[in-house]
Amino acid sequence: MRVFDSTADMKRWAWEHRLEGKSIGLVPTMGYLHEGHISLVRRARAENDLVVVSLFVNPTQFGPGEDLERYPRDPEGDERKCAEAGANVLYMPTAAQLYPPGFQTYVEVDKVSRPLCGASRPGHFRGVATIVLKLFSIVQPSAAYFGRKDHQQLQVITTMVRDLDLNIRIVPCETIREKDGLAMSSRNAYLASHERRQAVCLYQALLEARRLFNDGERSAERYLRAMRERVEQEPDARIDYVSLVDPETLEDLQEVQDRAVAALAVKIGSTRLIDNMLLEGRT
Ligand code: AMP
Repeated sequence: MRVFDSTADMKRWAWEHRLEGKSIGLVPTMGYLHEGHISLVRRARAENDLVVVSLFVNPTQFGPGEDLERYPRDPEGDERKCAEAGANVLYMPTAAQLYPPGFQTYVEVDKVSRPLCGASRPGHFRGVATIVLKLFSIVQPSAAYFGRKDHQQLQVITTMVRDLDLNIRIVPCETIREKDGLAMSSRNAYLASHERRQAVCLYQALLEARRLFNDGERSAERYLRAMRERVEQEPDARIDYVSLVDPETLEDLQEVQDRAVAALAVKIGSTRLIDNMLLEGRT
């Protein structure tokens, strides 16, 4: 596996291999890799000639007072995990290279960036869309792999690719969970053991929503109430949002028909966690 910290080296490698007609799968990450990330790398491995994993803690997607400085890092461990999962390149650029003095161009994906995490983290998805478009132009992938755990991010990227006519296939990948159902996340490392036990409330709230959906419940308010009640059982949990939205537009639903996404963001102590579940095809 090659490791590039230089963007010029990354571009040259991508250019040479695209000229040879090779397909490149890109997995963008912020590092501190876990099985969720690795599942994306494996999927990319299975569907492309070559796989690039990018590792960049992108400052423009963090707001003031968020965890940019203390975001967990383990570059050596990440390098080993990427190599084991069969990546061909690990691309780890510096912020100075990607945002040099004079940088002033941003991508704004309008409506789908506004609700949910966009409401609590102003500017977050502008940072995400901008860095992902930059990674797309540097790596020139034919496909890029994103987790459904970040459902809104996936919608923002899918919308950007459609609206800007980018020739890249966006591949959504299933959420990988711990044994008790907690969605894997680099931020889980922040949780003290008493918080870790409470963090399962996000998944359990989503299971409540799934149960109501399977029972044929239509009233969105009933879903929201059941989810909130489950989260509020935990002493250190504070709800940021609990929502039931259309899977594509992310607009709030009043009535649940065939498809919905239940989504929530909860602070456990000082750690903000998100999770969601697609409700479709009653079982
Ligand atoms: P991050 O490093 O948190 O920015 O995540 C990088 C990519 O991995 C994003 O596309 C995430 O949606 C995806 N991802 C993060 N956690 C999981 C998970 N538990 N299961 C599947 N994909 C995930």
